[in-house]
Amino acid sequence: MRKLHGIGVSPGVAFGPAVIVRLDVPDVPNRAIPLDEVDAEVDRLNLAVASVVETLGTLRDRARERAGREESHIFDAQIMMVQDGDFLRGVEQLIRQNHLSAETAYEFKALEIRNIWMSSGNAILRDRLADLSAIHNRMLTRLLGRAEEEQWALPSEDQVIVVARELSPGLTVQLDRDHVVGLVSEEGTRTSHAAILAHSLGIPAVMGLPGALEEIRTGTTILLDGQSGMVLLDPSRAEIDRARAQLSRRQKLEFELEAAVTQAAITPDGVSFQLMGNVDLPDEISSAARNDAHGVGLLRTEFLVTGRAALPTEDEQADYFRRVSDAFPGYPVVVRSFDLGGDKFPAAFRAPPEPNPFLGWRSIRVCLDHPEIFRPQLRAVLRAAVDRRLELMLPLVTRIEEVLEAKEMLLEEALNLARAGIHAAASVPVGVMIETPAAAILADEFARHAAFFSVGTNDLVQYTLAVDRGNARLAERFSPHHPAILRQLKTIVDAGSRAGIGVSVCGEMASDPLSVVLLMGLGYRTLSVAPPALPLVKWIIRSVPVAAAAAAAEVALAADRPDGVTEALRTAVTPYFDSRILP
Ligand code: PEP
Ligand code: MG
Repeated sequence: MRKLHGIGVSPGVAFGPAVIVRLDVPDVPNRAIPLDEVDAEVDRLNLAVASVVETLGTLRDRARERAGREESHIFDAQIMMVQDGDFLRGVEQLIRQNHLSAETAYEFKALEIRNIWMSSGNAILRDRLADLSAIHNRMLTRLLGRAEEEQWALPSEDQVIVVARELSPGLTVQLDRDHVVGLVSEEGTRTSHAAILAHSLGIPAVMGLPGALEEIRTGTTILLDGQSGMVLLDPSRAEIDRARAQLSRRQKLEFELEAAVTQAAITPDGVSFQLMGNVDLPDEISSAARNDAHGVGLLRTEFLVTGRAALPTEDEQADYFRRVSDAFPGYPVVVRSFDLGGDKFPAAFRAPPEPNPFLGWRSIRVCLDHPEIFRPQLRAVLRAAVDRRLELMLPLVTRIEEVLEAKEMLLEEALNLARAGIHAAASVPVGVMIETPAAAILADEFARHAAFFSVGTNDLVQYTLAVDRGNARLAERFSPHHPAILRQLKTIVDAGSRAGIGVSVCGEMASDPLSVVLLMGLGYRTLSVAPPALPLVKWIIRSVPVAAAAAAAEVALAADRPDGVTEALRTAVTPYFDSRILP
């Protein structure tokens, strides 16, 4: 038996023989063309685009049938990507000016954009790399006249586990749940589209396993746990039996979670929590509302910008903020100002390439330097806040001056709107994300200028531990249980309570079962999580008394290494959790 550890992205236990699927980039020969074939090559490019759009439309319909309406939008986004005018004009230019074949020119531009996305410090963009590769591969395969990825033959009679370097959403949505019982991939994170689809389709999956293809052959027996991320190769009979028993218990848990989704988020010892949703894309509004989110604790706004030719207008933003707010009547919606970075800029906005975008010109720094981007967003929030509970949140702050400057601009825009006779709120609460060690250490000082704090643990862990959050190879080291993180979490919540301001957590940590207990114990009372995680987080809150969580947090705070923290939490939850939640 050999054991691998990756990122559990779709819960459930699966067991079966591996089938390796290779979706590698097609080998494109470098081909130049004579001048008189240029027009024909451009026609070939356009025909390929039309045909890929048609295929993606079919996949979208299939996704709608099999996974749901929201998931089908993944393919709408792919259709937009494949039709991207700027990109296609770039390819056409290469064909016309350099006399390259359509596939050679296309590959050239595809590699260029992929490199930009890869080196971008932006997590969302890097998560979408699989979509980008999928459409590029589809286009290249079409231009080369080769067979399509969908024709990958999977055995139809066996229950198999598909193993790949990277899973595309297109392949994932076509997997037959009766025959494909699990997924394993070297690349991918919890938020990649293939992971989201696997979750919706109910296929247990583990991603982020670098080197898996060196260990696994077609036919290798695999037992995987899509919750913990554990993958056993050639497991023993006893391990298989244990896994099967666990699977049936977990299915029962799913029913219990769904049944509790509209119940109050109150602990057994009577402490109330506010459970909110994180919304990255418009599709998530309805699933957050369905899962009883009491507002949106993190409304990411980058999708309004990414991949678009121009900045969104003030009206468009105000309409979007109103739409989100109307889905959560009476509850707050926290709009996070543009967290732009890397190349997550509108195409028209030329940002200089940077050697180290994670530590570069991004987020609040860009907004403050470019009022023409920031001010319309501030105005949109103020306008949408008439009769609605909208709040503004500033990401990646490291200096008090940034908060003061942003608040000054907000005030100026409120005055401008009033002077122009435009109906808008006079102000909105302005909070800050605590997601850098600088902000955590200075939490008391920031609390004097902020209406609330929201802890972005994804970046806080990244910047504290010097671990790239998107690097699957370092996934083990990306630990929110590191004592340096615990101490900061305590500093932040204590500073918030001294100042009498609300403190929430909106990073991924807030949906990890053991970490939920830790956060409860440290004194956090508001958590904002991805919509699918809401039922489980509520179940934990309703199961674990705050007194027990506080005792666990105290022991955890005394630990000097991540394992010690995890162990303390595990011991504390034993009477409340069962093996269905923590195998
Ligand atoms: C975070 O950093 O924890 C966070 C919530 O923001 P994002 O993931 O968008 O960087
Ligand atoms: Mg962040």
